[in-house]
Amino acid sequence: MKFDMVVIGGGLVGASLVAALRSSGLRIALIEPREPSSLPSDESWDSRVYAISPGSVDFLRDLGIWQRMDTSRLTPVYDMSIFGDDNCSHIHFSAYETGVAELAHIIENRQLQAAVWEALQSEKNLDIICPASCVAIIWHTTHAEIQLEDGRTLEAALVVGADGVNSWTRQQAGIGVSRHAYQQIGVVANYNTELPHRNIAYQWFRRNGVLALLPLADHRVSMVWSTSEIHAAQLRELSAEALCLRVAEAASYTLGRLELITPPAGFPLNFVHADSLIKPRFVLVGDAAHGIHPLAGQGVNLGLRDVRKLAEIIRKRGFQSDIGDLMLLRRYECARKEDILALETVTDGLQKLFNNSNPTLARIRNLGLEITNHLPLIKNQLMQHALS
Ligand SMILES: Cc1cc2nc3c(=O)[nH]c(=O)nc-3n(C[C@H](O)[C@H](O)[C@H](O)COP(=O)(O)OP(=O)(O)OC[C@H]3O[C@@H](n4cnc5c(N)ncnc54)[C@H](O)[C@@H]3O)c2cc1C
Repeated sequence: MKFDMVVIGGGLVGASLVAALRSSGLRIALIEPREPSSLPSDESWDSRVYAISPGSVDFLRDLGIWQRMDTSRLTPVYDMSIFGDDNCSHIHFSAYETGVAELAHIIENRQLQAAVWEALQSEKNLDIICPASCVAIIWHTTHAEIQLEDGRTLEAALVVGADGVNSWTRQQAGIGVSRHAYQQIGVVANYNTELPHRNIAYQWFRRNGVLALLPLADHRVSMVWSTSEIHAAQLRELSAEALCLRVAEAASYTLGRLELITPPAGFPLNFVHADSLIKPRFVLVGDAAHGIHPLAGQGVNLGLRDVRKLAEIIRKRGFQSDIGDLMLLRRYECARKEDILALETVTDGLQKLFNNSNPTLARIRNLGLEITNHLPLIKNQLMQHALS
């Protein structure tokens, strides 16, 4: 089977790239080992949620994906309140002051994933090969050969690695990484709250990690508590009542008492930076290219910005030019380097700054929050990046 492009990994980023190029005339295949999970018929809520930036919303709307979402499960964020670990330093961002309708939308992973996959159905130039696993990629000058576990072989002018932070395709391409484990787990769970969240996303930089409570429809919030492996294990062993009490206390009862509505789950957190985003006939997008700490809620947004740029470069290439050509791919790498490095540096730096018990550092970071809160220009600049 011959294709112009084979995308390996059908997570949000890989599937969005396919959606972005589905009407480009290119012959595309998408390989994904896991069958897409269908949406539950009950009213249950996914505890894996994303803060999707306005820039990503615009992009998903252009692809006809945003329109497929159940609007009753999309929650706009109008304000963001971030607290230091001294119980008084604080920084506040507001959509009104920034001059935008909202700072982000909170959306469940499975709702967004389902909408992206739905948009791919019945496309003529697209082969969705799922469930399927790859066993090898053989690189030739003119094409790459992808061998599947079931014995099938695909040929492609360009292979896209979109297979997440532990990317197999990245290894096959011989691209090295700088990597460190944060030795933290992102503990996620959803709650009903006693007090209304008023569409505010809250975040507390605490001695025992970063706690975020993100608004969901009605009186619900979704928690991401990025904390040490030991503390995460303790949190997950607590009874529902004890966990609610622990989280409500850590959040200074800002939202009153809590009631657990989805059991806690944990995700290990790693920093991964790929040494290169490209090689001949190969390109990396999403977490396969950059795994960042979730404290800024920007991983998917960064991956969708990869997709926007790659799709734009492929669409604008000269008529009939080779899409696996290294010169073309270099334009993508050059265009994406700065944004990726900036976000990697900020998230990694903040994680290190706040995951440190040195009292001098504690004073500096809390003072930094407080001072920044009174500098509208800097606040605005910080926000502009998060909105893109
Ligand atoms: C606790 C937590 C909270 C987060 N919150 C936010 C947030 O609020 N906002 C935000 O923007 N980001 C957030 N992120 C980051 C976000 O989850 C990731 O950036 C995003 O999921 C990356 O998408 P992806 O498609 O690149 O990779 P993945 O979601 O990892 O998808 C990779 C896909 O590749 C497939 N795959 C794996 N191996 C192979 C293989 N060998 N062959 C073929 N396919 C393969 C997998 O089945 C999967 O479908 C958070 C992350 C964590 C851990």
